[in-house]
Amino acid sequence: MSQAQGQLRYRGQCDDCSWTGRPFVRYGTADTAARDHADAHRHTAFVADQYDLRIVGSTVRPGEARQH
Ligand SMILES: [Zn+2]
Repeated sequence: MSQAQGQLRYRGQCDDCSWTGRPFVRYGTADTAARDHADAHRHTAFVADQYDLRIVGSTVRPGEARQH
């Protein structure tokens, strides 16, 4: 793929369903996507890196999506 594709390292994922967000270069963008998913579906979401490893502290539970 393109050079930009290799820089996409963060994406939201969900503990409660099989949702996986689009990959983003910026952590904050993936974090926002995870929070949106948690809010919309009342699921516990988190952000993972390019190795599918959960980012420590990124877990967002329903109802606390706007806190950090
Ligand atoms: Zn979900």
